[in-house]
Amino acid sequence: MVSRAHIHRLTAPVVLPADPACSVVRDGAVDIDESGRIVYCGPASAAPGEADRTTAKDGILLPGLVNTHAHSPMVLMRGMGGDLPLLRWLREVIFPLEAKLQPSDVRAGMLLGSVEMLRRGVTTSSEMYFHAEQMADAVLTTGARAVIGGPIIDLPGLDWRTLLAAANSWIDADGLRSGPGERIELSYAGHSAYMLPPEALEAIADEARGRGALVQIHVAETADEDAEQRAAHGSVPRLLDKVGLLDGRLIAAHSVHLSDEDIALFAARGTGVAHCPGSNAKLASGQARLADLRAATSMSGWAPTVRPATTTSTCGRRSSCRRCWPDCPHRTLPG
Ligand SMILES: [Zn+2]
Repeated sequence: MVSRAHIHRLTAPVVLPADPACSVVRDGAVDIDESGRIVYCGPASAAPGEADRTTAKDGILLPGLVNTHAHSPMVLMRGMGGDLPLLRWLREVIFPLEAKLQPSDVRAGMLLGSVEMLRRGVTTSSEMYFHAEQMADAVLTTGARAVIGGPIIDLPGLDWRTLLAAANSWIDADGLRSGPGERIELSYAGHSAYMLPPEALEAIADEARGRGALVQIHVAETADEDAEQRAAHGSVPRLLDKVGLLDGRLIAAHSVHLSDEDIALFAARGTGVAHCPGSNAKLASGQARLADLRAATSMSGWAPTVRPATTTSTCGRRSSCRRCWPDCPHRTLPG
């Protein structure tokens, strides 16, 4: 029997447990024990016993939203390089600026990005950025959760083998999950098929699979990238399948330019797609086939991709109810 000592009860007119049935609880309550664990979620009238403390909330009480693809420290560059396509934006504006960033800059940017997300109900983000240890420290400071990876990329002055070895060493030293409440999860952040050779993608797949780690990667973000990879490898998803990345846990960010076969392949492999409408709009990358991805059950989350001038909030796997709301055919309306 659960001890009722030190229970903090939250009540709200509507509670969304985000369960598989997409339940909607009217006049609900959520009980939290002293360790921070939820020990009851349901109608307030059926809540067990008295709580030490009760906080009545307005509106809808639901699990924290998840930003499934972010480079949050880039809030420092918000608004820079407007009206440029992706590769010109990266090479002419972003990469030269990033070369000057100090670790303390990244920490400050992550602090700001994390606070902005928390204020909008986003409690977890999947982050890919340099000085990743600074991001972890910032997230632990704000109280948020994050999946974190330093980008593995092949550029002048950046060797993918060295970056991959650093990711391996960090995970081997600290474990996949660490920090209070295991709020930090380490991952492999292979940048993209256009910034890495196939042998690097294969090495990342091998190292990640051996450690049960998640891999984040940009997929078919622009038409130019898609055309190049499609000519060389069939398509980005086909290349990722060939090197073994679809065999493990993968977040395929953007995934704008997908064929029917690519979507079927992602669905068959259970690949998660991070939908990034804000970034796709800013950089004119195109419109992802959202309805087709959802129909194929490959859709896993939404991400504004915290790049300059993207400020929309987001939802993801843990807020799956939001995907169905308000027309979920399975929802129930107690009371
Ligand atoms: Zn990105």
